[in-house]
Amino acid sequence: MNKRLTCIECPRGCVLSIEIENGKIVSLKGNECPKGEKYAAAEVENPLRILTSAVLAEGLDLKMVAVRTDKPIPKAKLFAAMEEIKKIRLSHPVRCGEVIAENFLGLGVRLLATRRALKES
Ligand code: SF4
Repeated sequence: MNKRLTCIECPRGCVLSIEIENGKIVSLKGNECPKGEKYAAAEVENPLRILTSAVLAEGLDLKMVAVRTDKPIPKAKLFAAMEEIKKIRLSHPVRCGEVIAENFLGLGVRLLATRRALKES
């Protein structure tokens, strides 16, 4: 299988041509430096993403509170993470950066509020 990716490790944005066999890179072209190799390997073998979303709030001045993970999580876990986020009901005031969930989904990351929410007046 062949794949093309744009390396986002620096503004140069090299277009990487990757040949993949059994989930591993067997050939890589287009990278101008070794960072492109690392980027391609991570994207092919274990792509990670920071998850940004919002949780439902109850009794607060916002209906939804924006959240994000403090570290990237495996792309393959994004759906499960969204299902977990849908279950959360935030009913206490939060500050921006406050931890909403420790060890979110057992992935060793924290889910953080990215907005402040106060008690409804
Ligand atoms: S391969 Fe190297 S030079 Fe090219 S975009 Fe990635 S980091 Fe930048």
